[in-house]
Amino acid sequence: MRMSLSKPLSVLAIPAFADNYLWLIHDDINAAIVDPGDAGPVLEVLRDRKLTLTAILLTHHHADHVGGVPALLEKYRVPVYGPHNPAIAGITHPLSEGDRFTVPELGLALSVLEVPGHTLDHIAYVADEPGWLFCGDTLFAGGCGRLFEGTPAQMVESLAKLAALPDRTAVYCAHEYTLSNLKFAREVEPQNNALLARFDAEQKKREQNQATVPSFIGLEKSTNPFLRYTEPAILDRLTSVGRLANREATPAFAALREWKNAYR
Ligand SMILES: [Zn+2]
Repeated sequence: MRMSLSKPLSVLAIPAFADNYLWLIHDDINAAIVDPGDAGPVLEVLRDRKLTLTAILLTHHHADHVGGVPALLEKYRVPVYGPHNPAIAGITHPLSEGDRFTVPELGLALSVLEVPGHTLDHIAYVADEPGWLFCGDTLFAGGCGRLFEGTPAQMVESLAKLAALPDRTAVYCAHEYTLSNLKFAREVEPQNNALLARFDAEQKKREQNQATVPSFIGLEKSTNPFLRYTEPAILDRLTSVGRLANREATPAFAALREWKNAYR
């Protein structure tokens, strides 16, 4: 819990590129940015809302997550938190599994999870209070990141760490991929009523140009096939489409991910 008397914190989605969300954690005075792939829209929001940047938080090395760091550092000399990856320029506070720190001036306590799979350096940030997860490209609403660097076994372990968070945890992922993820999810699990209801609700949001993110861990556990691949119905489906020879967890996850890669 925050012990200061300042206003409660909010999280603002800053859209960037085609479908990225850069997450701005802020009060009335200060702000921290998660994964600033582009500095322009961040500087614009800081200026419009008269906020001072106090920290940069990075989840992994991809350009659409770190590209804006140099330009932000030109204007704001702030600490940069991120993974132990010398390929990312500007990190002042390299972080490992279990590390805890407080975001400067915002008083938000965060802990770090190592979640390799999408990339090997990928980390996620968890705020137990108020229950926020910043997970970059690891867990998406209705899906998960592609395995560019890690193995299915690594991603299985990483997603299990995220699924173990409380159901009420808000999932701030980095892309608006929800509808295309849920179309695939429906193909995988056509009898899941929670999923069908979610698809309709998220589709309405998109029709009104609203973000479908953040999601919640509880909702992901009931609708996201990449957290549900050991469900008998999903194992049956993978077997019936000829993608799974046994019913073991990691091969099932790998088969599901490969199916999604090929799905249009
Ligand atoms: Zn990425």
